[in-house]
Amino acid sequence: MKDIVSLCKRRGFIFPASDIYGGLNGFWDYGPLGTELKNNLRDRWWKDMVTTPPIGPDGAPVQIVGLDSSIIQNPKTWVASGHVGGFSDPMVDCKETKKRYRQDHLVVLTAEKADRWPAFHEETEDDEILKRLKKLGMPSDLSLFEKTNLTKLPIEDYAKIIGPDVKEPGTLTEPKEFNLMFETYTGAIQSEDSKAYLRPETAQGIFLNFKNVLDSSRVKVPFGIAQIGKAFRNEVTPRNFIFRSREFEQMEMEWFCHGGEAKMWQDFWLEERANFWKAVGLSDGNIIIRGHDADELAHYAKEGLGTSDIEYKFPFTDPGYGELEGIAHRCDFDLKAHEEHSGQKLAYLDPSRDNERYIPHVIEPAAGLTRGVLALICEAYTVDENRPSGVYLNFTPAMAPKKAAILPLIGKDEHVPIATKLYLELREEFPVDLDIKQNIGKRYARQDEIGTPYCFTIDNDTIADGTVTVRERNTMAQERISLDKVAEYLREKMKV
Ligand code: ATP
Repeated sequence: MKDIVSLCKRRGFIFPASDIYGGLNGFWDYGPLGTELKNNLRDRWWKDMVTTPPIGPDGAPVQIVGLDSSIIQNPKTWVASGHVGGFSDPMVDCKETKKRYRQDHLVVLTAEKADRWPAFHEETEDDEILKRLKKLGMPSDLSLFEKTNLTKLPIEDYAKIIGPDVKEPGTLTEPKEFNLMFETYTGAIQSEDSKAYLRPETAQGIFLNFKNVLDSSRVKVPFGIAQIGKAFRNEVTPRNFIFRSREFEQMEMEWFCHGGEAKMWQDFWLEERANFWKAVGLSDGNIIIRGHDADELAHYAKEGLGTSDIEYKFPFTDPGYGELEGIAHRCDFDLKAHEEHSGQKLAYLDPSRDNERYIPHVIEPAAGLTRGVLALICEAYTVDENRPSGVYLNFTPAMAPKKAAILPLIGKDEHVPIATKLYLELREEFPVDLDIKQNIGKRYARQDEIGTPYCFTIDNDTIADGTVTVRERNTMAQERISLDKVAEYLREKMKV
């Protein structure tokens, strides 16, 4: 991860936010190439959801419309959705170090006879655990212990636990609720009455507009509303680069259907969404689908079919996986809650079911856009000792921030005008780079590190016979093609 983070900064993918002030924990800025990469992933999602949504089980394309709702909504929204009351992670504090941990992120090594049970962050590697056991003067043999999540232990046992950053047991407090929503105020006067929240998910903006969309467009249940946008959570322990940040972007679609069809649609969307992540470049072997256990289900999912996550094997979770997207059955929880709190009728009168009146159920594929960007970068990062850069980013052509680079072999003579002309022609169709400075090896190295799939080099032969060299990023193989065939060549390659 250290190498990935450093490449992201060096080449302009991702910078710490407020870098010149020393950063701000949990916030990140997307640089010139990171923005392009994020836009590519975002646009592909929008295309697959809204522009060309999939063919449904009945052979007809499903209906999905787009939305861009406000980040700040009437605060009653978050009371109705359960976020004001319940959107919090139970936390335990360490009385000695004043550190705060998410209860579900700590694991404890228990052993029935022992009176000291060391706790660790869930991602701590076994060799680190062994080292610490030694330091604590305990037998460094993992087979003597059982690994238990802290959420599974009763409060009475907390006295035996040695917190992750201390040497003696008994410093962890009971779990307390910690609200994750950022608060702000609307208007000039800051009081309880003017308190508002930055949205912690984009989904609620969709539920608030369910009726507006039904009344103003020609959609009929089943249909979906899709939205991409920022979400904010005051995460207690932001970490793992952009994986868990306090400001991030989500791509969420709420699929409204009859309760009786919820299972069919959940299966449908689970398959569609897993295919999406593969289509943008994540390999089969790095993705798994995991059903939630009953004790991790969200408040809205308790009654229904539950949630299945699409998870990715990030370098910091390996050999385990981290959530990329959840496909939840939210039942009719949200629309019902907004109906109760707003007093507005949100039931649907279904002409195709003998005018049955019902509150639709919701299947929600909720993905992290910024977390997806991290998965794309981790997947693409390829070490290769045989090239000057030592590493290249193996993006699919569709996701690569730059599709091609045009490199005049020598920066001063007649190669440059030909390269510039080609650049001006190609950029109408593709994001391309014209790179004139430095020797050709350094320029190839830079393009490898930013994941550009093709480089076209203009040299003396171009002047003599109208051909250019194409260099393919992964194989470094070179061939010559005709200068006037370059656009067609790229068009062909971008289809993959
Ligand atoms: P977690 O259990 O990891 O906190 P969650 O289950 O609460 O996540 P959801 O509410 O289902 O997450 O959000 C949908 C998606 O939004 C997640 O799958 C993830 O990709 C993304 N996401 C959630 N929280 C964050 C965060 N703090 N930083 C970046 N992405 C996030």
